[in-house]
Amino acid sequence: MTSQQQQLELELHTLKTTINNVGAYIYIKDTNGCYTYANQKVTELFGCSLEQLVGLDDSYFFLTDHLGDLQENDRKVLEQGIEIEGEERNIVKSTGETRYYWTVKKPLYEEGQVIGMYGISTDITERKLLEKQLHEKQALLDTVLNNIDAYIYMKNSDAQFLYANKKTAKLFGQKPQTLLGKTAEQCLGEEASVDFNQLDKQVLTLGKKVSGQEQFIDEYGETRYYWTTKVPLKNSENEVVSFVGMSTDTTEIIKLKEQYRRLASIDELTQLANRRSFTTQGNSELARFLRHGCKFVILLLDLDYFKNINDSFGHAVGDEVLIAVSNCFVDTVRELDFVSRIGGEEFAIILPKTDVKAAYVIAERIRNNIKKIIVNTPFCQVKNLSISIGLSIVKAEDSELDHILLRADKALYEAKSAGRDCVIEK
Ligand code: GH3
Ligand code: MG
Ligand code: MG
Repeated sequence: MTSQQQQLELELHTLKTTINNVGAYIYIKDTNGCYTYANQKVTELFGCSLEQLVGLDDSYFFLTDHLGDLQENDRKVLEQGIEIEGEERNIVKSTGETRYYWTVKKPLYEEGQVIGMYGISTDITERKLLEKQLHEKQALLDTVLNNIDAYIYMKNSDAQFLYANKKTAKLFGQKPQTLLGKTAEQCLGEEASVDFNQLDKQVLTLGKKVSGQEQFIDEYGETRYYWTTKVPLKNSENEVVSFVGMSTDTTEIIKLKEQYRRLASIDELTQLANRRSFTTQGNSELARFLRHGCKFVILLLDLDYFKNINDSFGHAVGDEVLIAVSNCFVDTVRELDFVSRIGGEEFAIILPKTDVKAAYVIAERIRNNIKKIIVNTPFCQVKNLSISIGLSIVKAEDSELDHILLRADKALYEAKSAGRDCVIEK
């Protein structure tokens, strides 16, 4: 063997080794689509030797149902001399696996005639599967984020939006895309965004999950409440670089709670405190007395011959009178006094920081002002009302609210017995 032949042998060997070890399927086919050469990767995939492979076409190795792309591409190259570059999919008969390839196919020419083709296919199955999984996860995430009844968003360390679901963008009067890069302040103004900024600052400085209530006044001037959780995201240096926020609108619940609290403590007809809140207030007044010696007086008030008003003019007029009487109490007493309706036409007033003398003055003023009430209805006029008042100041031996109330009740009873329209102290 000449040294030139040896050189050629060496080059051929190197070339074969390279082709067999390159991470792609390399093959040559004749004009009938039958293999004339294939590298080791192809023969390994088909589970045969190169000798067995030569002369056979793809129908021996791939499931025929899925040969569509592959044969179509081969035909284009062989019959029309077109160069193909694209994705191919097939199912390998020996393993039953679906595999995806990025394939380049080009015609082979001899004296201007197509005599076959060669192809290089790179297996992209893993990448395709990852892409598919990623796509599915993204679709799941998008569906959840945009359909969940919550505001979900991500902000950077300058509190600029990095992500916002549709609901969030709408709240800020933006589209998800136009909100990006902006702060709450830029969208809503400084005043309206104060609350949002507080939790933003907390999560960024503390670097741990924070939760709390946020509120702001919407375009209709209504206060809206949100329960919000903000979770920090850190980089490899453990620095907080961004955070994810999740907020739910709790306005209806908060309003219902407020309404419930009000209903539980307020008398619906007169809008005064009811017996329940009178008891609460009375007990805390007593506790203040027992601890700090702050004296207070309780007035029990009962309208005189009120039944006659109902009997003469009807219950609805009686209700009007009760409202007028309640307003008269509120207008007569001081800001710090506590007026309540504890029964049908019975009222109690707590006078804090008051001695008996001052309480008498207030009680007499009430008694006189009640006389001035005139209730006009389309059908009648109610006037000349009078009220009896029992008065009792807290005493050292009073360990319970009932002790004072008992005295005040006795005083009221005596006022009634004494001919009504008067104040009696016990
Ligand atoms: P006295 O001077 O002894 O207090 O006479 P009175 O008629 O006011 O006494 P009594 O307590 O017997 O009557 C109270 C009446 O108040 C009886 C009831 O029909 C009426 N009443 C109680 N609650 C309401 C209410 O919510 N609306 C109206 N219109 N009347 C009520
Ligand atoms: Mg009465
Ligand atoms: Mg009564």
